[in-house]
Amino acid sequence: MTALFDLSGRVALVTGGNGGIGLGLAQGLAECGARVVITGRNAEKNAAAVAALGGDALALVVDVTDRAGCDRAVAEVLRLAGRLDILVNNAGTNIRQPPEAITDEAWDTVLNTNLTSMMRLCRAAYPALKASGHGRVINNGSMMSIFGGPQHVSYGASKGGVVQLTKSLAVAWSGDGITCNAILPGWIETELTVGAQRDNPALHDSVIARTPAGVWGKPADFRGIAAFLASDAAAFVTGTAIPVDGGYSARG
Ligand code: NDP
Repeated sequence: MTALFDLSGRVALVTGGNGGIGLGLAQGLAECGARVVITGRNAEKNAAAVAALGGDALALVVDVTDRAGCDRAVAEVLRLAGRLDILVNNAGTNIRQPPEAITDEAWDTVLNTNLTSMMRLCRAAYPALKASGHGRVINNGSMMSIFGGPQHVSYGASKGGVVQLTKSLAVAWSGDGITCNAILPGWIETELTVGAQRDNPALHDSVIARTPAGVWGKPADFRGIAAFLASDAAAFVTGTAIPVDGGYSARG
């Protein structure tokens, strides 16, 4: 691995890193030499992800909707690994409901999981990221940060918020050497999209037809963007929201 993307000696926390896109992001960081701590609510999935990552990877059982859990996750990383250089806020969920039928419970779950947790984790991680001298925040948004969708009211609101949160953090913390960027995945084959494909059998082929690259994305497609944004090569890149979508959002 070229020195430009060398993350040796750096420690990364990846929420929702026990599968899907989060595991792809974690793999990119680990391949560049970072020590990766992944989180998820499911201990079995966590153990499998640690085995897949190999090396000195660690896992924490954390529910990001739990305020104390977010603080505890950062404290545990510092206790176990001694530092925190890279925070990847990836954990997310979707509850698809039309706006006229949306429930308060669903709204709260989606907003807390996808957006409020990011603020809490960033707030808790700030002192360590500042002390790092090259702190990195990578927030997982969505193409639904850009587009609207009839079944994506709470999800889209949360993901739009991710981009604005990211921009504000970038402005606030650039003087501390911390960069904050969002990634905007397109259609990626993960557990999250299995339900959507089940409910809409035409979805699989329509995504392929609409995506200029002509395929669904895979978690492994996120290794490179994680390595780049976390590296010294991206020191002057902050406040951005980068689509990783095979061109889906470029098509008018
Ligand atoms: P997965 O369902 O495969 O992964 C979701 C991850 O988040 C899991 O690791 C899960 O772990 C974790 N998670 C969910 N809820 C919580 C919670 N309350 N506390 C802690 N961890 C939680 O989905 P994806 O990989 O697809 O999604 C990852 C991110 O990518 C999300 O933010 C999603 O919005 C975004 N995204 C995905 C797209 C896609 O097409 N797949 C498109 C655009 C954005 P566990 O179950 O163990 O808690």
